[in-house]
Amino acid sequence: MSARRDLSGVDVDVIVIGGGPAGATASTLIARHGHRVRLFERERFPRFHIGESLIPETYWVLQRLGMLPKMQQSSFVKKYSVQFVSANGKQSAPFYFWDNKPHDCSQTWQVVRSEFDQMMLTHAREHGVDVHEGVHVLDVLFEGDRAVGVKIRDEDGSRREIRAAVVVDASGQSALLQNRLKLRLWDPVLNKGAIWTYWEGAHRDTGRDEGATLVLQTATKNGWFWYIPLHNDVVSVGVVAPFDHLFKGRVSHEQTYQEGVDRCGAVKERVAMGRRVTGYFATRDYSYRSRAVAGDGWVLIGDAFGFLDPLYSSGVLLALRSGELAADAIVEGLAAGDTGAAQLGKWGPLFNQGVDRMRRLVCEYYDGFSFGNFVRRYPDLRGTITDLLIGDLFTERVDKVWGPLESLYEAGKQPIPPWDAGAPPELVQHKANQLVLPEGRRP
Ligand SMILES: Cc1cc2nc3c(=O)[nH]c(=O)nc-3n(C[C@H](O)[C@H](O)[C@H](O)COP(=O)(O)OP(=O)(O)OC[C@H]3O[C@@H](n4cnc5c(N)ncnc54)[C@H](O)[C@@H]3O)c2cc1C
Repeated sequence: MSARRDLSGVDVDVIVIGGGPAGATASTLIARHGHRVRLFERERFPRFHIGESLIPETYWVLQRLGMLPKMQQSSFVKKYSVQFVSANGKQSAPFYFWDNKPHDCSQTWQVVRSEFDQMMLTHAREHGVDVHEGVHVLDVLFEGDRAVGVKIRDEDGSRREIRAAVVVDASGQSALLQNRLKLRLWDPVLNKGAIWTYWEGAHRDTGRDEGATLVLQTATKNGWFWYIPLHNDVVSVGVVAPFDHLFKGRVSHEQTYQEGVDRCGAVKERVAMGRRVTGYFATRDYSYRSRAVAGDGWVLIGDAFGFLDPLYSSGVLLALRSGELAADAIVEGLAAGDTGAAQLGKWGPLFNQGVDRMRRLVCEYYDGFSFGNFVRRYPDLRGTITDLLIGDLFTERVDKVWGPLESLYEAGKQPIPPWDAGAPPELVQHKANQLVLPEGRRP
C-alpha cells in the first residue's frame, strides 16, 4: 500500500515515547536532520534502571551520536573484557576485546544507568529534541491502521493529544504498542527471571581486569551471576535463573539470593568483604520480541521491540542499534513522503538476524556450552567468538562458529532451533522449555 503522506496538520514530525537509550538515540539522530522531534518521558531523570554493562559495539553508535567525549570524561569504570567461571569454579581466560580488535572501540564502560541515561537525554536536548519529562503517554492514536499521534497526561493531570507523522515507541519493557496491538511473543526458551542487589567494598580486580564483567555459573548450573564493578566502589551482583527456581513459594528474594551466593564460592568470596547497600530488586518479565518492527506511522525500538536475556550484556547495544537503524529509516521516509510500514521497518530483517545470533549464543550457554572448552578445541575461532561477545552481530561472517560449536555436542543433541518470531511459540521445541511460570503468565 502506498503510504505517501501530507505532513500538514501534524504538531511535530516525530513523537518518541520514552527517554531511555533507544529513545534518546533515535530522537537525536532524527532531530539532527532538522525534523521537529518531541520526546515524552514519564519519569524525571535521573531515575534508576538496570542494565549497566556495555559491550564494545556500542562505540560506533556513541561515536555517531557524538557521545564519546562525554563517555571518556565520565567516571564510568572502563571495561576491557568478559570472563566466565563455571559451577566448579574453573575460570576461562578473560576474553580481552583489545587482543581481538586493537582499536579504541575495544574499551567500553560499566555505567550507572541513572547517570548514563541522563547524559544521553541531555545530549538529545542539545541536538534539538524537545524533551518533556514527567509526561506519561497514555495511548497511541490511530486513524484506521495508521498511527497519527499520542494522548498524553502532563504532571498536573491534564490530558492532551499531539499529532505527528511518525510515532516511535521506545517505552522499554512497558512496550506500549506491543501490548496495545497484541504483538508480544514471549521467548519459549528463555523464560528466566533475575534478582540483584548492590555491594560496596566488595572484591575488585586491578589493572585492566578492574572493569571486567564476570559471568559465574550457579551451583545448580541452570543460571548465572553477573558481577559488574561500578564507580564509587559499588559492585552490581545479580542472579539470573528459571522463574520456578527464583520465585518459588513464599521464599523472599533475599533468601533465594543469599542461598545462591552461599552455594557459589566464587561470588561468596568476592562479596564477603563488602557491605550490601541497597535492597533486592527482581524482574520476572523476560525475553520477548514483537511480531513486527513497524507499521504505518509507527516503529518499535529497544526493549519496546524486544528483550533478550542479559547474559552477554547486549540490551543497551540493541537499544542503540535499533534506535539508529529506525532513525535512518524515518529520516529517509520523511524525505520521500513515505511513512508506511515497509519504509519504517526496512531495517527489521537485518536487526532480527543479529538478535537471533545473540540469542543462539545465550541458548547454547544454558545448554552447557563452555567458552573455555570451545577455544581450547578451536583456538583459531577465539577471535570470531569474541566478535559475538563484543556485539558484532549483524554480519554472516560470525556464523562460521556454529558448525564447530555443534561438533562439541553430546551424542544425540540437536542444534538449538532458530526462533521464528512469526511462528506460533508452541512450534519451537527445546529441552530447556520446562519452566513453571507464575500464575497468569504465558510464554
Ligand atoms: C536483569 C537485567 C539485567 C540487564 N543487564 C544489562 C547489561 O548488563 N547490559 C545491557 O546492555 N543491558 C542490560 N539489560 C537490558 C537493558 O536494561 C535494556 O535493554 C535497556 O535499558 C533498553 O533501553 P530502552 O531505551 O529500550 O528502554 P528503557 O531504558 O527501559 O527506557 C524506556 C523509557 O521509557 C519510559 N516510559 C515507559 N512507558 C512510558 C510512557 N507510557 N510514557 C512515557 N515514557 C514512558 C520509561 O520511564 C523509561 O525511561 C538488563 C536488563 C535486565 C532486566
